[in-house]
Amino acid sequence: MRNAFIDALNTRDMQAITRIAKSDRHNHGFLGGRLPYFAQQFGIEIEPPPSTLQGLDGMHAWIVEQFFPHFEGAAGFERTYEAAFFAAQQDGITILEMNIDVTHRSLYDGSVTTLIEVLEGIHHRIAPNIHFIPEIGFSRYSDVRELLDWFTPYLETEYFQSIDLYATEFAQPIENFREIYRLAKEKGMKRKAHIGEFGPAESLIEAIETLDLTAIQHGISAAESQDVMAYLQERQIPLHICPTSNVRLGRVEAYAVHPIRTLFDHGICVTINSDDIAIFDTSVSEEYVHLLNENVFSASELNQIRENGLHCDA
Ligand SMILES: [Zn+2]
Repeated sequence: MRNAFIDALNTRDMQAITRIAKSDRHNHGFLGGRLPYFAQQFGIEIEPPPSTLQGLDGMHAWIVEQFFPHFEGAAGFERTYEAAFFAAQQDGITILEMNIDVTHRSLYDGSVTTLIEVLEGIHHRIAPNIHFIPEIGFSRYSDVRELLDWFTPYLETEYFQSIDLYATEFAQPIENFREIYRLAKEKGMKRKAHIGEFGPAESLIEAIETLDLTAIQHGISAAESQDVMAYLQERQIPLHICPTSNVRLGRVEAYAVHPIRTLFDHGICVTINSDDIAIFDTSVSEEYVHLLNENVFSASELNQIRENGLHCDA
């Protein structure tokens, strides 16, 4: 049977590829817009980051020096999320699991209700057809007691459906975050964390068991351990992978040797995602094409991965 996505990939028909339903489940909304959008819509010219960043520290330096200063306050925040929804809509994303940092309610006098109104407004104005799964993000650098204070008012709403933990895996032990994840589970939220991006394979199992995770952001280090891959395969815990991010941050040498192939071959549920579009200048559609061009996957395997992304909510 013919499949439109496979045909579109094989003919490298970018317009057709973007028209077909796909998910993005690893998207940091504050950095989810394209730089040209900021220039066109708001006259904000931003110097793009260098093609090779020096790991997470290099990326962080660019964010702080080149990006943050343009987007201070509520107006800045709203511009970044408008750009993120626009980028997702242009890419034909139909399921967008995108995070908002837990501290962002500070922009609205601490009000979660106002934050939700703002997000709903942007979502419905820019990309009403996208199924948006709002996610709360926590930085692993932050003091956990402070994070819990930030988090508590969110638990009184039904809007946010997922949580994520990001920034360097080495900032503090994973067990420090146990209470946040327990509260999220009590509310029936999805529980994700950035693990195995730079950290060791074994840290995946430790994090899954400590925080009762339902999905992993990155997780590519798992490919270094048969035991960890067997564990993930057995439980079908999805890994939301961002190939360009891994290459640009120097974690993976090239697309052609990306561990996503090994993980896929071991029956692990992998998906393909964008991470930080403002930095990595890529869309999910472009990620599929990169992996096809570099002979990492066939078009039919990429279609299977696309389907993984659409159906991993169960
Ligand atoms: Zn990320």
